[in-house]
Amino acid sequence: VAKSQGRDQIQYYSASTDLQSFKHFNLSNDLRKALDKKEFFLMYMPRVDSQTTKIVGVEALIRWTHPEWGLISPAEFIPIAEETGLIVPIGEWVLREACRQNKSWQDQGFKPITTSVNFSVKQLIRPNILQTIDNIIEETGIAAGQLEIEITESSFISNEFEVTQLLSELKKRNIKVSLDDFGTGYSSLYLLKQLTLDTLKIDRSFVEEILTDSVNRSIIQCILTLAKELDMNVVAEGVETAEQYALLKELQCDEIQGYYFSRPLHVEAFAKLLRDNNMT
Ligand code: C2E
Ligand code: MG
Ligand code: MG
Ligand code: MG
Repeated sequence: VAKSQGRDQIQYYSASTDLQSFKHFNLSNDLRKALDKKEFFLMYMPRVDSQTTKIVGVEALIRWTHPEWGLISPAEFIPIAEETGLIVPIGEWVLREACRQNKSWQDQGFKPITTSVNFSVKQLIRPNILQTIDNIIEETGIAAGQLEIEITESSFISNEFEVTQLLSELKKRNIKVSLDDFGTGYSSLYLLKQLTLDTLKIDRSFVEEILTDSVNRSIIQCILTLAKELDMNVVAEGVETAEQYALLKELQCDEIQGYYFSRPLHVEAFAKLLRDNNMT
């Protein structure tokens, strides 16, 4: 019995692996067409000031409605987009759409907020990336100071020189840069010294256990002290409960992002949130 069970397990495992690779294969094919077929859209997740709970910014998060598989999360297709190079046109679409939407909210009379856009390293190291960013800013009319580019620590691993150069160009334009998922990478402290960053986004994994794990709490306190010293803004990601929020507020973490305030929203729902929060 044990043996046949074992075999079943193996069969099940290999069947699911086949399905995985089949899906992966199909996704990479379908991803090629998804831009033309307008299957992508953005969700918007607010960032709030922890002391006042005022909305200060929004993160644009991509979604893909696949014709057969339905809604696919970026965790699933962004890695494929990176492997295939499709991240370059997809990322450009995200940036353009996010900037256009920011300008549109402002034209509708909402108070200015910052829009942050996630960038993959493959996008950052394209030789013409600055030109692309400049064009999109000009084309959409967003104020450069209202655009924030989110990068991760892993972006620097083999590309420190290119990325450092790019960041200094972005700074000249007053475009903000944040380090996403901070604390999960390899060279955090070294990077903070090397780079001119505006914002640190503390990874959700630290926030998750902030109440139960005193080490995590100490790490967050250290990050906050250091960021203050270096004149950086700190955002806590993944805040889900009132207790987590209360503690982060007490610790003077500048901004909060998480399900406690809002899940990522469709564009209309985000506009409603702005209205409900007197952002007009
Ligand atoms: P990220 O940039 O760290 O974005 C935050 C992710 O955490 C989002 O997932 C968001 O929905 C989720 N999140 C935020 N607060 C909470 C919370 O309180 N609880 C829980 N359980 N989750 C929370 P999402 O939208 O699935 O995005 C996942 C990742 O995919 C992003 O992580 C980012 O790395 C990547 N991504 C999303 N959009 C883009 C894009 O346009 N371009 C690129 N290159 N990557 C993107
Ligand atoms: Mg992000
Ligand atoms: Mg993050
Ligand atoms: Mg993340």
